[in-house]
Amino acid sequence: MTAVPVLIGMRPPVVETEADAAPGAPLVDTHGRVHRDLRISLTDRCSLRCTYCMPEQGNEWLAKTSILTLDEIERVARVAAADGITTFRLTGGEPLLRQDIVEVVRRLARITGPDGTPVELAMTTNGIRLPEFLPGLVEAGLRRLNISLDTLRRDRFRELTRRDRLDDVLDGIAAAAASGLRPLKLNAVAMRDVNDDELVDLVEFAIAHDAQMRFIEQMPLDAGHTWDRSRMVTRDEILDTLSRRWSLTPVPGRGGAPAERWMLDGGPHTVGVIASVTAPFCGDCDRLRLTADGQLRNCLFSTTEYDLLPILRTASSSVAGSAPVAGSAPVAEPPSVAELVEASSPLDEEIDRMLRSCVRGKLPGHAINDPSFLQPARGMNAIGG
Ligand code: SAM
Repeated sequence: MTAVPVLIGMRPPVVETEADAAPGAPLVDTHGRVHRDLRISLTDRCSLRCTYCMPEQGNEWLAKTSILTLDEIERVARVAAADGITTFRLTGGEPLLRQDIVEVVRRLARITGPDGTPVELAMTTNGIRLPEFLPGLVEAGLRRLNISLDTLRRDRFRELTRRDRLDDVLDGIAAAAASGLRPLKLNAVAMRDVNDDELVDLVEFAIAHDAQMRFIEQMPLDAGHTWDRSRMVTRDEILDTLSRRWSLTPVPGRGGAPAERWMLDGGPHTVGVIASVTAPFCGDCDRLRLTADGQLRNCLFSTTEYDLLPILRTASSSVAGSAPVAGSAPVAEPPSVAELVEASSPLDEEIDRMLRSCVRGKLPGHAINDPSFLQPARGMNAIGG
């Protein structure tokens, strides 16, 4: 059977052959990268409107009917874990806006890999609803948290996120610090003339909350397509600023992690930099993404998506036999748990094939620095950061 990727850009489709499909085998791409990490976006909705991510108004939301149900997410996640995915990171949009978020965590945390080891469940959040949800999330099996915090100044926060919610975010960080979840990471996009005078303050704030500060180079992923390379704050500039306050010693053993880390004054505290633009780390990338509307993506910057929605929503009779169709196909009613169970094996095989097709189609790098680079049509909120 042939899995057909949905082209939303100019890249040619990767057609998978029968011989490539081996359910349960690791997800290795044509460049030898083994995939261990699945980012699962739960919604494209967000309680903030960060300027580098979403427009203030007029955002085109994903159709509610196309948002994956809890059963559908769990189904894909189980197949991915059987294929060697060891970490699920829940993201969005804002994952805590999802009504069934505690149940999502509970179901995904129960999933084990082929050797019986439970997957690791992490979440990236703006923190706003953490005081309300954190006890339930921890009890349900959440193990790690990344919280976004770009500024400590209220006026800046309001301008940057177009919402007056800094106090709520800080309450969320306090709740996370008080929880047992470690390592706790705080993420800031470094922006010129916006927060680049706060880098040291943010690191000190993180240290005071037993957290690790990480700075992200701004990427061309804003819905408004306003990214300007000449304005972005680079890794080297970030390190230059921090090294005026601390001595920085590289932490070895980065593996597939997006952040390079440095010890501050010999440790134990560290700071991380995610330099996707000036020092891409694609050679070690082990990540796949599942969007809230069921599209598999092999790169943040990919212009090709692999549509799981028709597979998940096709009646059980055709689950076994049909090739997936393009995203323009009508979206059927989500299946019930009983229907999913009944259709188990053929459906899982279809999901497995699509995962493999997506992995096989992964390019060696994201090519942001190539003149032919094409920004993906989706903004970061609809991809899942
Ligand atoms: N709402 C959650 C949050 O605020 O963390 C999760 C989704 S958000 C899209 C995930 C991460 O993506 C955040 O840390 C955010 O700062 C980052 N992000 C969004 N747009 C970005 C861009 N254009 N460049 C770099 N990072 C970006």
